[in-house]
Amino acid sequence: MNCPRDGAELAVEHTHGIEVDRCPTCNGRWLDFHELEQLEATTGASEMERRATIEFGEKPSELDCPNCGKRMKAFNYRAYELELDTCPEEHGYWLDAGEEGRVRDIINDRVRGLERSASAEAAWGGFLRGLKGGRGRGGGLFGRR
Ligand SMILES: [Zn+2]
Ligand SMILES: [Zn+2]
Repeated sequence: MNCPRDGAELAVEHTHGIEVDRCPTCNGRWLDFHELEQLEATTGASEMERRATIEFGEKPSELDCPNCGKRMKAFNYRAYELELDTCPEEHGYWLDAGEEGRVRDIINDRVRGLERSASAEAAWGGFLRGLKGGRGRGGGLFGRR
């Protein structure tokens, strides 16, 4: 396959156990349709998270699919300011140089956000348990240290 941006031959590269076609000239990457999902899976995001709408703010792309040559469509990844191109025939995604890292950053941010809310919940749960059960064990209301 050739780079949709500059026509250079794409080189196969393995990243996070996923096969990615990388352009040696512009450093863009082509991910097969399911590989973005796999890339997301490497971050530990939940199934539900990954299934949340990926495509948002679709508009015509200036690039053609390296697989079938059809004009791709551009969209904003998960409503972030990150534009990806995808083939209407679901052949894959084109990520410009650096975007793959940004995708991972975005996913990791989201995962961290979830972990924060989860631990906040756990802390709140512990606080409630302390209120309910703390007295009888001699600890007093806030006695559990
Ligand atoms: Zn290129
Ligand atoms: Zn295609």
